[in-house]
Amino acid sequence: MSNFFSSILNYITPCQCILCGSACQKAFCPPCLATLVRWQATESCPCCAIPNTQGHRCGQCLKASPALDKSYAAFIYTDPVASLIQAAKFAQQWTLLPPLGQILAELPLTRPDVLIALPLHAARLRERGFNQALEIARPIAEKLNIQLEMGRLTRQKNTEHQARLSANARWQNMRNAFHYAGDLSGARVALIDDVMTSGASLNAAANVLKAAGAREVEAWVLARTA
Ligand SMILES: [Zn+2]
Ligand SMILES: [Zn+2]
Repeated sequence: MSNFFSSILNYITPCQCILCGSACQKAFCPPCLATLVRWQATESCPCCAIPNTQGHRCGQCLKASPALDKSYAAFIYTDPVASLIQAAKFAQQWTLLPPLGQILAELPLTRPDVLIALPLHAARLRERGFNQALEIARPIAEKLNIQLEMGRLTRQKNTEHQARLSANARWQNMRNAFHYAGDLSGARVALIDDVMTSGASLNAAANVLKAAGAREVEAWVLARTA
């Protein structure tokens, strides 16, 4: 059987813990699940999810209110979750993403009207073969029974290689990076992505969604960098 189909089967009927390989019916066995470092809303900035603010807005978000109304993460971006996300994106192990998305769906979040996965630029999507945000969003849409909107939010600029840029240059670079074709009047939207670092791309997308009429935009990510 090809790797692709065996991965799919493994996802549908997981029988081994992703981390330790012991037999279990979920993606992680209870001891391994307990080692994953959870993000805590009560200790983080409500707008950008950066940790260690005791639940208050961080200095950055006080200075300039971001387009994102709220941000939530399932985990802190540290190992083993960081390695799993890296393997998913850069070693084509995309089947690691849905089980992590399911954990994100278990957070006590207010149900939005629409879920949107942060899109990749078309060139990047061709190169990778899948959009990690979409693979995270699918199980959330299924579990919460929310419409997962695809194709209306697009990425016009290939801005992914901006790790070397300063924070300021990143935000500049994100201008006009996204386009939304549609009407979101009055809608509450949750934007899904894998990792939130500066939040520059999520905020640029949130700006575009608000310009399209969205009443509220939240970011739901697998992991937040500390
Ligand atoms: Zn385990
Ligand atoms: Zn903040």
